Formats: sequence, C-alpha cells, structure tokens
Amino acid sequence: MLKMGSNDFDEIRRHGEETYPYECCGVLLGRMDGDVRSVSSVVRCGNTRTDSPQNRYHIDPRELIRIQRQGREREEDIVGFYHSHPDHPARWSPTDLAEAHWFGCSYVITCVEKGKASATNSFELTGSDEDEKKLVDEKIEVSQAET
Ligand SMILES: [Zn+2]
Repeated sequence: MLKMGSNDFDEIRRHGEETYPYECCGVLLGRMDGDVRSVSSVVRCGNTRTDSPQNRYHIDPRELIRIQRQGREREEDIVGFYHSHPDHPARWSPTDLAEAHWFGCSYVITCVEKGKASATNSFELTGSDEDEKKLVDEKIEVSQAET
C-alpha cells in the first residue's frame, strides 16, 4: 500500500497537467514499513526522453543519485516513482514494466485527459528478478495534509 498526503497527491497530478501533452516524471521519497510505503516528499524530475516524450519517460541516473543522497540526509528513502500518461489510461504499459527495476517500490501513473488529471493508480513492482517481475495493483491511501 502507498500512503501519501493530499498535498503530495495533488502535486503529482498538477505536474502531469503542467507537462501535458508530454509525460512528467518524478520520485517519491519517504519510508518503507513492511508492505506500506509512506510518502513524505515528491521530487519532480525532468523527462530526459527527447525522442518520444509523449509516451516515454526517463529519469537521468545522476539526478536519481542526487535525490537519493538528499533523501538520506533527511532519513528518507526512494519509495516510488511517478509519471503521467497523456490521453492514455492510468495502467502500466509493457515498456513501463520493462523499465521498472526497483523491487518493492511503488510506480504511480496519472492519466491526463486533454490537460486535466483524471485517474491516478499505483502499482508495486514485485518479484525477485528481472525475469519474473510484475507490476501489481496497490491501494493509494490519501490523507488530508496536516497543517
Ligand atoms: Zn507509462
């Protein structure tokens, strides 16, 4: 299960609307507690795919390392990733599965229809190696932001 505050949930959806008709992408930092991943911050990334940004995303590995290091300073780990599907359903594609390598992390996909975020779903990457990995539906629990 993935838990996040409504502010972080809205931020993911807003990012997808801003980059429409291109895909947005980013990283979810937080804590893992067994099967529960709790998001404490959302970090936007630049989509480095210039050949096909409408239906592909790619996060620069150097950017990922930088985010991971910054998270560690605040005792946060990478617990997931997000990207948008402009005018495509919020379901993972075969490419999304092929390019997912972080086992036990959440992969959040937001559908953006004609510039407006609609469905947002999350999938956990399960399995122990590349040959038998799967993206499995998981629940997103959104809580109201603490003030
Ligand atoms: Zn995708």
